[in-house]
Amino acid sequence: MKRLCVICALILSLTACGGSAAPAKLDFFAMDTVMEFSAYKASENLLAEARDIVMDIERRVSTTRETSEIYALNRDGGGTVSPETAALLDTALSMCRVTGGAFDVSIYPVVRAWGFTTDEYRVPSYDETAALLEHVDYARIRVSGDAVTLPDGMEIDLGGVAKGYAGREAAAYLRRHGVTSGLLNLGGNVQTIGSKPDGTAWRVAIRDPNDDTHYAGIVEIRDKAAVTSGGYERYFTADDGQTYWHIMDPATGRPARNGVISATVIADDGALCDALSTALFVMGAEKAERFWRNHPDFDMALITDDGEILVTPGLTYEPVEGVPYAVRTLEA
Ligand code: ADP
Ligand code: MG
Repeated sequence: MKRLCVICALILSLTACGGSAAPAKLDFFAMDTVMEFSAYKASENLLAEARDIVMDIERRVSTTRETSEIYALNRDGGGTVSPETAALLDTALSMCRVTGGAFDVSIYPVVRAWGFTTDEYRVPSYDETAALLEHVDYARIRVSGDAVTLPDGMEIDLGGVAKGYAGREAAAYLRRHGVTSGLLNLGGNVQTIGSKPDGTAWRVAIRDPNDDTHYAGIVEIRDKAAVTSGGYERYFTADDGQTYWHIMDPATGRPARNGVISATVIADDGALCDALSTALFVMGAEKAERFWRNHPDFDMALITDDGEILVTPGLTYEPVEGVPYAVRTLEA
């Protein structure tokens, strides 16, 4: 329920006005979150077909459904997957490589040790996480066509990229069926199609990571995805008074605490946005800036724990009045 409210609050864009007919809408639950699809000049039937694409991806890659392909890989240490799952794994592994392992699909046993897969939170000892880290290394996953081999003790989770990938695939389907204006909200992973019917950009709000009753700012996007990773999304406070969140630093086996408290990525490809928002959160601001300079094919807005918002120059970013962050636009 809490997640539902957060998601409702996140999206300003759905209140688009443009004088054209009302959009078709479809809300549903998938991938552990509420999703809201909305598209102009589309039928509810078409949206239902796009929803089925998301459901199908979930059915294939869920780590907890015993019938999923990823479940089978983790249980058997490998196997043959469908071409669709192979394509998603391929996308995920290329993001692991390009981020130098800040994003690592094999972090799953560590995420589980902290209780994030069951909501039975705990703080594992350093010895325990060190032992689990022995099995974390995406580079040791072997993929040959549709055949996947995992080294002993490794388990993978595509959850850090699946929603963005699903948004991309659903949008591609809608575009192929003539949709030129739409907004898909996959639990805070926003995928837009075209612009609003009146030709203006979609406006997507970024939550204030320190105050869930406010937005920090608004980004304007057209035909792109915007994905935010934040420590506030899933966390617990332990007996030691510390807050621990669900984004892990594969270098330490502990929640990433490198100065970034919210990372938003805007790009054409929702899968890239999803994986990269997690990775930039892990990297921290300095490394993230360096990464952006080497791969300038995306925009970002990073909120740091010392009260700055770093924004790339290509992004139309509008701070919300009264929010206590200093906007610093990076030089091109
Ligand atoms: P959410 O799923 O809440 O939208 P993210 O897209 O940021 O958040 O993905 C976080 C999820 O990805 C975690 O719940 C966890 O399962 C997994 N994860 C955590 N840390 C990493 C990491 N460094 N690399 C890859 N996946 C991660
Ligand atoms: Mg992500």
